[in-house]
Amino acid sequence: MTKTLHIVGGGMAGSEAAWQAANMGVAVVIHEMRPKVKTFAHRTGDLAEMVCSNSFRSDDSEQNAVGLLHWEMRAANGLIMQTADRHRLPAGGALAVDRDPFAAAVTAALRDHPRVHIEYNEITALPEGGHWIFATGPLTSAGLGQAIAAETGSDALAFFDAIAPIVYFDSIDMSQAWMQSRYDKGETEAERTAYLNCPMDRDQYEAFIDALLVADKTQFHEGETAGYFDGCLPIEVMAERGRETLRFGPMKPVGLTNPHRPDEKPYAVVQLRRDNALGTLYNIVGFQTKMKYGAQTEVLRMIPGLENAQFARLGGIHRNTFLNSPTLLDNQMRLRSRPNIRFAGQITGVEGYVESSAMGLLAGRMAAAEILGQPLAPPPQDSAMGALIHHITGGAEAKTFQPMNVNFGLFRPVDGLKGGRRGRKDRYKAYTDRAKEAWKTWLEQSVLDATQTV
Ligand SMILES: Cc1cc2nc3c(=O)[nH]c(=O)nc-3n(C[C@H](O)[C@H](O)[C@H](O)COP(=O)(O)OP(=O)(O)OC[C@H]3O[C@@H](n4cnc5c(N)ncnc54)[C@H](O)[C@@H]3O)c2cc1C
Repeated sequence: MTKTLHIVGGGMAGSEAAWQAANMGVAVVIHEMRPKVKTFAHRTGDLAEMVCSNSFRSDDSEQNAVGLLHWEMRAANGLIMQTADRHRLPAGGALAVDRDPFAAAVTAALRDHPRVHIEYNEITALPEGGHWIFATGPLTSAGLGQAIAAETGSDALAFFDAIAPIVYFDSIDMSQAWMQSRYDKGETEAERTAYLNCPMDRDQYEAFIDALLVADKTQFHEGETAGYFDGCLPIEVMAERGRETLRFGPMKPVGLTNPHRPDEKPYAVVQLRRDNALGTLYNIVGFQTKMKYGAQTEVLRMIPGLENAQFARLGGIHRNTFLNSPTLLDNQMRLRSRPNIRFAGQITGVEGYVESSAMGLLAGRMAAAEILGQPLAPPPQDSAMGALIHHITGGAEAKTFQPMNVNFGLFRPVDGLKGGRRGRKDRYKAYTDRAKEAWKTWLEQSVLDATQTV
C-alpha cells in the first residue's frame, strides 16, 4: 500500500495538513486546482490565500477561544501561525497579516519542503485507494462537489450556509423567556420543553419589522446565488414581502403560553432551539439573515429576553460547501463509508481561517500517524482543538448542523465557577488554562511529533 498522503486543496487547511504530515516523516502530494481553475473569491495561485479579511481575529489566548486556538497551533509547530507571526501587522489585540507575503511564504515553505510535492490539478473524483485528505473549502469545485454528493447523498452536503444566529444560553433573560415546545408536543419532559420562547407584543413586533427593513445588509457575490432561494429566505426578505409574513412564519405565536403572563396572548414569538448537547448554545429558529453584523446585534437585541444576548456566532447566508460531519465523519475525520478519505477545513463544517487551519493540523497529524502505523488518540475535549472536532463529529445536532466558529459554548463547564456575565472573565481564564494543560499533555503523549520549523 502506498505511504504517500495526497491532500486535495492547498488552502488554509490543506497547507497546514501537508506541513504537519511532512514533518512527521510522510511524503505528501498537494493537489491544488488554482491557478488553472479559479474560484470567484481567490485572486492568485498561491497556497493559503486569504480570500477576504486579512485577520486571524483575536490573539488573546486567555480570554478568547480563537486566541486559544492560535496558542494550541503554535504549540504544535503550526505553519499558518508561524508564518502569520512573521508577517504580522499592527492591529490591536487581533492577529492581522500582510496577506500576499503571508501566502507567498506558506507556498515557499511547502514548495521547499523535501517531503512535499505540489501538483496544480483539479481532482474531480473520490479515489478508491491510498490515503487522502480533502480540504477543498467552501468553494469546492463543481465536479468534485458532485462526486462527494454522490457518495454522501445530496442531503448530507450543503452548498449554502443559511446560518441562524447562535446565542449563549447564559446571556438570555429567563425572566422574560420560557421553555416550551409548540402545543407541548413530545413524549418526554425534555421534548415538551425543547424550545426557548421570547414573546413580543404588537408594538414590539412593529418596531422590530421597521428595524429589519432599514437595517444594513450585505450583498451576494457575483455567481454566488444559484440555487439559494430553496427554503432559506433571509428574515429581512420575508419582512419585505409583507409585515405579517414573519408572524405567519418563524415568529408565529400559536400553541404557546407565556408562564410569566399567562393571561396575555403574545402577538409574535421568537423561538430558539438547543444547538449543542451541553445546552450552552441556542440558535434562533428560521432567523438566517444577510444583515451586517453591527446591524444584526442591534436588531436582535430588540427581542424581549435577548436585550443582553451574547452571540456565539451571527447569522449569514453565503456560498459554502460543507458536509453533515456529525453523520458522515468519525472522530479521526475519516469518511465513515470510505475510511481512506479524510476531510479537513471549512468543508467539515467549521468556519473561518483559524478553525479551518486547526482542522487541517489535526487531519494532517492523524493521517500521518495512521500511515506510520501509530494512530493518534483523539485530542482532549477540553482543548480548543478537541472541543471543535468533538462538536463537528458528534456534539452538534446533526439535523440542524451549520458551520461553527470556535467559542466557549463548545467547552465543558468548569465546576465551581460563577455563571452569567459577572463570572465570565474567571470562567474564560479557567477554560483556557485547562485547555492549555490538556493540549500540552496530548502533544507530549503523541508519540510522533512535528518538529521542523519554518
Ligand atoms: C467569499 C468568502 C469570504 C470569506 N471571508 C472570510 C474572512 O474574512 N475570514 C475568515 O476567517 N474566513 C473567511 N471565509 C471563510 C474561508 O474561506 C475559510 O475560512 C478558509 O479559507 C477555509 O479554509 P479551507 O482550507 O477549508 O479552504 P480554502 O482556503 O478555500 O482552500 C481550499 C482550496 O481548495 C482548492 N480546491 C477546491 N476544489 C478543488 C479541487 N476539486 N481540486 C483541487 N483543488 C481544489 C481551492 O482552490 C482552494 O485553494 C470566507 C469564505 C468565502 C467563500
